[in-house]
Amino acid sequence: MTAESIESITNTPSADSIKEPSALEYIEKLRDIYNRYTSTKFFSMLKACVNCGACAKACHYYCSEQNKDFVPANRIKQLDSVISEYFHPIKSKLHFGKPRNPMTNPKFDTLFKAAFENCTLCGNCALACPMGINTGEIMYVARALLFGLGKVPSGLMGPVNTTLLTGNYLGLSDEDFIDTIEWLAEEMEEDMGEGFSIPINKENAKVLYIPHPLTLRDFPFLLMDELKILSAAGEDYTLSTHDFDVVNYAFYQGSKENVYKVANTTLEARKILNAESLVLAPCGHGYRVLKHEVEKIIGERFSFPIYTLVELIDQYVQEGRLEFEKDLFEGPVTYHDPCNIGRRGGVIEEPRRVIKALTSNFVEMQPHGVHNYCCGGGGGLASTGDLGHIRQRMGKIKAEQIQKTGAKTVVTGCFNCKNQIRDIAVIHDLDFDVKSIVEVVASSIKGMSKE
Ligand code: SF4
Ligand code: SF4
Repeated sequence: MTAESIESITNTPSADSIKEPSALEYIEKLRDIYNRYTSTKFFSMLKACVNCGACAKACHYYCSEQNKDFVPANRIKQLDSVISEYFHPIKSKLHFGKPRNPMTNPKFDTLFKAAFENCTLCGNCALACPMGINTGEIMYVARALLFGLGKVPSGLMGPVNTTLLTGNYLGLSDEDFIDTIEWLAEEMEEDMGEGFSIPINKENAKVLYIPHPLTLRDFPFLLMDELKILSAAGEDYTLSTHDFDVVNYAFYQGSKENVYKVANTTLEARKILNAESLVLAPCGHGYRVLKHEVEKIIGERFSFPIYTLVELIDQYVQEGRLEFEKDLFEGPVTYHDPCNIGRRGGVIEEPRRVIKALTSNFVEMQPHGVHNYCCGGGGGLASTGDLGHIRQRMGKIKAEQIQKTGAKTVVTGCFNCKNQIRDIAVIHDLDFDVKSIVEVVASSIKGMSKE
């Protein structure tokens, strides 16, 4: 690949072509983003706040640490102040002559904290706000402006650039992928029967399954569980070398252009293989982006369905395609709704029906479902090592919620949520196991249960 093509793919200028834009050029860039990312709905939310404070109790930041900066309404004011300075039709003209250079304006440092560090875009505040203000959506516009200035956490730049160059955020090669899948098939023969194989690049399958690359590289037992479920249910599925990455961290950068480029790899893979549907490994934001955000970006409906794996598992259970040994996991068992699958994705009842088929001791957190608190690992914080200390602190309310249930097993349907809840269990010295929904399902399938 040439330097020019790398530059065009990643939007990263080569060293030779770097020329610091002027303040006016930065402002023009911001104005272009501002015009493209804002809407009538955005402006009505921006100015509708009546300072009632109801959103504070819905935000896991404020509930974990009662700091006034964590009241959602106060984050909005930080963006409003930037908008007034640069884009207000009258006020922006009052900065006679020389407008402040956005790159040195401390307002953008404050906005960086508000948008990237102190908001996971989880949307819970919108349900509490009597005016229907979604601070998460407003902070998305803040992220887009900051992206335009190159002010993005490193943990959200490197992985996206790697995806744009290699097709997956870990930079795994097709050979890595095929070797791992062949090895998994060998390992699974004992459970699944001699000659068991895992289809790759099969055309016209009902399901094209998109895994999480971290399961390929670091957690193969999780991918094994996912494949065991699809195979045990007799699903007509395939994996593909054309795409094996459910993740789309470009969403958290605030770049719709990059979101589309990353998502397009998955859309093309489905098209090439003519699969009837896309089924995604448990990953909250990956599901939200592909199922709900990409259609908005391209302005048209997909002609095929997209599911997160738990929706399929629920169908299998309803149709009697999977039978379980019950109560293999220590109860009480509770379920953490990943924001992007539950509140933002509408998948609330499916995981509960599945878990209740596995345990007779299910308990709910309060609140749960659409009103569930974010675990603290959303918004890209889980992928950004520098921000690990923030997400761990902001998991305090989640730790308290879980503790109150008395649960010994916490199940969830998102890779990042699972890791975050595992971390907060350690930090808060809590005694429970955290499991992916695929682990509890695969381990309970009759004839394959290990416990
Ligand atoms: S979107 Fe979530 S994290 Fe952001 S302000 Fe609202 S409740 Fe808090
Ligand atoms: S709940 Fe809505 S109206 Fe009330 S302070 Fe929060 S953003 Fe403003």
